[in-house]
Amino acid sequence: MVDLKALDLPELETFFTRRGEPRWRAHQVYRWIWQKGSTDPLAWTDLPRILRERLAEETRVSALRAEHAAASRDGTVKFIFALEDGHRVESVWIPDRDRRTVCVSSQVGCALGCTFCATGLLGLSRNLKAHEIVDQVLQASLLMGERATNVVFMGMGEPLQNWEEVKKALVMLMRHIGLNLGARRITVSTVGIPHRIRELARFPRQVRLAFSLHSAIQEKRETIIPLARRFPLPEILDALWDYYEAHRRWITLEYIHLPGFNDGPEDIEALVRLGRKIPSKVNVIPFNPHPELPFRAPEMEETEAFVSRLRRRFPHPVTFRRPRGRDVFGACGQLALMVQQEARHP
Ligand code: SAH
Ligand code: SF4
Repeated sequence: MVDLKALDLPELETFFTRRGEPRWRAHQVYRWIWQKGSTDPLAWTDLPRILRERLAEETRVSALRAEHAAASRDGTVKFIFALEDGHRVESVWIPDRDRRTVCVSSQVGCALGCTFCATGLLGLSRNLKAHEIVDQVLQASLLMGERATNVVFMGMGEPLQNWEEVKKALVMLMRHIGLNLGARRITVSTVGIPHRIRELARFPRQVRLAFSLHSAIQEKRETIIPLARRFPLPEILDALWDYYEAHRRWITLEYIHLPGFNDGPEDIEALVRLGRKIPSKVNVIPFNPHPELPFRAPEMEETEAFVSRLRRRFPHPVTFRRPRGRDVFGACGQLALMVQQEARHP
């Protein structure tokens, strides 16, 4: 039975025109699904009753099911959504002044195995479909009773390893008759896959880019990010430059503070050299510990001291905000949840 939610607008148009219906039926239905969050064709009152009944019999509208929601004192809410095949992903709702950001997952698990990342421990189960990504934003908004204003791809998975579906999800997120998010309010975070960064550079809309750097020293970076061996920093920087040239958007360098590992003078010097090459700001994230991960969490003062040492030398802005939601995310260690540091750009 066809899932109407799995069809983007052009596919929905084909679906209706093949049935001899006018093209704009697709627009009506798309609005019901993505603007109003309805899953019941019988409620789509601007459609003829006969058509509603046929749709109710012959089609369905899937919805992610929230299995769990945990609210932090600071307003951050973590959701665990069940997919139709029983897999689970995490999403986070992050309110901040006039913004409401949803941090979405792009894969069930991740194949890349970064040594500081709890998702990496899971391995990859499967890629998410575009509508499963977009539905995280819709369901979180429905449950919170407010519209999301921003989306960051910083949940589970490496979005650029699922580029086709992520690209489709970006288009769906931006549709005016759907969630209507502006490109500049969407940030894709990547561990660095040069040819896919170039795809994002060619993408016609100005989606923001965050690059998970974590060490500007190639040899060190390889020890925590296995993929770095395949894609060395100079190649990634070339691709980041292409992105910058195409969109004139500053890049966020995500930098997890791993005390004693990537916070020494040589680490700062390497960061400074890199910062001179690329219009970028650094966003420092204190490592979020997990029993199975081989690093210790920094004391707040340690991270603050590192940030001020870095600020003295780095040619562009360095941001650091206290982690959000740690009271509820503590034990599970899902990094997704570190997105408090959702990209803020100069
Ligand atoms: N795969 C993509 C996006 C998902 S990870 C990427 O790696 O960029 C989202 C962010 O959470 C990344 O910046 C990642 O480095 C960070 N992260 C992962 N594990 C973390 C941990 N234990 N503590 C703090 N941040 C973490
Ligand atoms: Fe995958 Fe990103 Fe975690 Fe690395 S940090 S394992 S790329 S989700």
